[in-house]
Amino acid sequence: MMLKDRKALFERDMDLEFMKEVHGIPGGDAIKRCIQCGTCSGTCPVSWAMDKSPRQIIAMVRAGMRDKVLTSNTIWTCASCYSCTVRCPQEIKITDVMYILKRLAMRAGQKKAKAAQVFSKTFTDLVRRYGRNQEAQLMTRYMLKTNPLGAIGFAGVGLNLFRTGRMPLGAKPIKDVQGLRRIIDRAQQLGGEG
Ligand code: SF4
Ligand code: SF4
Repeated sequence: MMLKDRKALFERDMDLEFMKEVHGIPGGDAIKRCIQCGTCSGTCPVSWAMDKSPRQIIAMVRAGMRDKVLTSNTIWTCASCYSCTVRCPQEIKITDVMYILKRLAMRAGQKKAKAAQVFSKTFTDLVRRYGRNQEAQLMTRYMLKTNPLGAIGFAGVGLNLFRTGRMPLGAKPIKDVQGLRRIIDRAQQLGGEG
C-alpha cells in the first residue's frame, strides 16, 4: 500500500472533532506530550479490571479513536484516585481526561454510560435525602432500574446481609442535611450531572 493511501486510511479513522473536544478541556492539550511510558497504567490500582489501560486510552484519544474509547469500560472503572495524574512525568491530567470522556460517552448515549448515570443519579438522590449513602436502597433502586431480572438473583445476598446486620434498611438524615441539600442543588444548577 502506498504511503499516501495509508495516510488517507488513518485520517479516515481519526475523529478530529473528538480530538478537539479532549484538547479543549483545561490541560487536555497536554496529552500531546504523552511519551507512552506506562507509569499511569503501572500506578493505577484498578487497571486489572480495565479493558484498556490508562496508557492505551491516552494513545487511542491521540489517534482520534472516538468509538473505541467511549465504549471502553476503562472510563467507568476509573476510581478517580489521581495516582496516575500525580505520577505522570509529563504532568498530564489523566483523571480529568477520564472525566471528560465520561461526559462525552453520556452525551453519545453509550449503554455503559446510561447505567453509570443511573447509579450516579440514585446515589446523589440518596445523599441529598439523608446526607449519606444508604446501600440497601442504592442497590435495590439501581438493580430495578437497570436489570430487574438480575435483582432477583441478588435478593438472597441482600437478605443475608440484612439478617446479619451488615446492611440496615432504614436511614436517618444527618444533622444539617438542609445545608448539604443547598450545596447539591447549587452544584446541579451550575451544570453538575448526577
Ligand atoms: S504516565 Fe503520562 S506520559 Fe506516561 S503513558 Fe501515562 S499519560 Fe503518557
Ligand atoms: S485516577 Fe483512574 S486511571 Fe488514574 S490511577 Fe486512579 S483509577 Fe487509575
